[in-house]
Amino acid sequence: MREVSSGCITYKKNGKIYLLMILDRFGYWTFPKGKIEDSESLEETAIREVKEETGIDVKIERYLGETHYSYIHSEKGNVDKTVHWYLAKAVSFNISPAYGEVARAEWIDLESAKRLCGYRSDLEIIEKLKI
Ligand code: ATP
Repeated sequence: MREVSSGCITYKKNGKIYLLMILDRFGYWTFPKGKIEDSESLEETAIREVKEETGIDVKIERYLGETHYSYIHSEKGNVDKTVHWYLAKAVSFNISPAYGEVARAEWIDLESAKRLCGYRSDLEIIEKLKI
């Protein structure tokens, strides 16, 4: 089956640039995202998912591109997944992680974010990031 999600690479500037990262329930550092619900636009999904997973409010600045991967799900079988990513600026700063959905949520400086990234496709997106 096919699955489409949408999410944000969210930043704040405080001397350095910091990215909002999550430790997902599979043990990898990545960025907040989730599946599209009902008649939501991709932007609406991305904003809602950042809020739900981390408590942070964002303003989307631009579309960054899509990533693709496949995984095997116990019930759905083989899943071919597309994730749409937006660059977003944080407009609130207090993180409150949705435990259950994510293990941790943190502001990570850009260089550390590149080292922490658990998925190659995420790294490709943030390596060419121009903020
Ligand atoms: P969503 O956050 O879109 O609701 P989900 O939590 O249901 O998704 P995924 O995050 O897509 O599921 O994770 C499903 C599987 O894919 C896990 O094994 C996860 O480790 C793996 N996965 C997640 N992101 C990536 C990626 N960028 N590249 C490769 N594998 C990934």
